Amino acid sequence: MLLNKNHSLKNWNTFGVDVKAKLFIEVFSEDELREILSDIKFKSERKFILGGGSNILFKKDFEGLLIKVSISGINVLEENDNSVLIEAGAGIIWNELVKFCVDGNYVGIENLTLIPGTVGAAPIQNIGAYGQEFADTFVSLNGLFVETGEQKTFIKDDCKFSYRSSIFKEELKNNFVVTSVRLRLSKNLKPNLTYKALSDYLAKNGIINPTIKEVSSAVAEIRKSKLPDPQKIGNAGSFFKNPVVSEDSFRKLKAEYSDIVSFPSESGQTKISAGWLIEKCGWKGKRVGDVGTSPDHALIICNFGNATGSEILEFAMRIKEEVANKFGIQLEEEVNIL
Ligand SMILES: Cc1cc2nc3c(=O)[nH]c(=O)nc-3n(C[C@H](O)[C@H](O)[C@H](O)COP(=O)(O)OP(=O)(O)OC[C@H]3O[C@@H](n4cnc5c(N)ncnc54)[C@H](O)[C@@H]3O)c2cc1C
Repeated sequence: MLLNKNHSLKNWNTFGVDVKAKLFIEVFSEDELREILSDIKFKSERKFILGGGSNILFKKDFEGLLIKVSISGINVLEENDNSVLIEAGAGIIWNELVKFCVDGNYVGIENLTLIPGTVGAAPIQNIGAYGQEFADTFVSLNGLFVETGEQKTFIKDDCKFSYRSSIFKEELKNNFVVTSVRLRLSKNLKPNLTYKALSDYLAKNGIINPTIKEVSSAVAEIRKSKLPDPQKIGNAGSFFKNPVVSEDSFRKLKAEYSDIVSFPSESGQTKISAGWLIEKCGWKGKRVGDVGTSPDHALIICNFGNATGSEILEFAMRIKEEVANKFGIQLEEEVNIL
């Protein structure tokens, strides 16, 4: 466990924003985490939990204690003819867990291939892509409350998972540290090919009954062709969530914009593509200084050079305002702003 003061976060957030944390500590076990949370020296410090920094925008220096969770370990806890129960430490890179499951032929998270970040952050916004969500295979997670250091296990019903959200992004925001998660994967389910871009890609490549390895590779290829690599261009993936509107509102929008892009959502509502809304406002590929939207994907805001967090946020707020003015829809940030 190493405590650093005035620690640069430039390499710890995928936007590549050059800010500092007053105090920065990396923990490698639940015991180390408990020790830090109960240390009287840090009691009055504001605390924030950091995974891979791929879903955070730092507006300014962080004047508190930033705790980077690097708890490792992937273990198969139970196995039978139909399924495996896997436990992974919160600090494991999400894609390493995906690879472990794909190599073992365990079905359930292959469509989430190449989502950046750590296992511990996956439940926070219930990561999802290509027709699969983290919650689909989730069994339970362990962790500690930030304020009290008390340990708790959450089962699925406790987590209030929904589209890019959970109890950890709402009521318990910044107040619970995930230390490990348990997932149950199937040994005999067929891959989920309901997402059109994925099934089209496989069909185009003549793959009829894909193995999960083939599905994982297909997802990786699609992602690489569509999304800017944060190692090269700073970004945090989708900046906003896709807004969900009532059937009635959708009907009115559809009457005016016949090309509107939408997806079915829970409880009879409709999810509208935020990327489409932004593009319709003329913001696809638009740049202001070093900030801009990706020329291929209007929903991804990029740092093309040395943009500051507040410049990125100002750019995002201008998009939000224009979408609200044109469509009467309030976009909600998917990225955590600090
Ligand atoms: C190019 C790109 C593509 C992306 N594509 C997708 C996608 O397809 N689908 C998707 O859902 N997301 C996507 N994302 C967003 C991001 O990858 C996920 O949100 C990911 O889960 C963030 O993980 P992280 O470890 O980097 O979390 P961080 O960015 O470090 O943190 C995110 C939030 O989780 C909290 N947190 C982190 N670790 C813990 C922990 N152990 N305990 C408690 N709280 C914690 C933080 O406090 C913060 O509030 C993408 C991002 C990028 C850059």
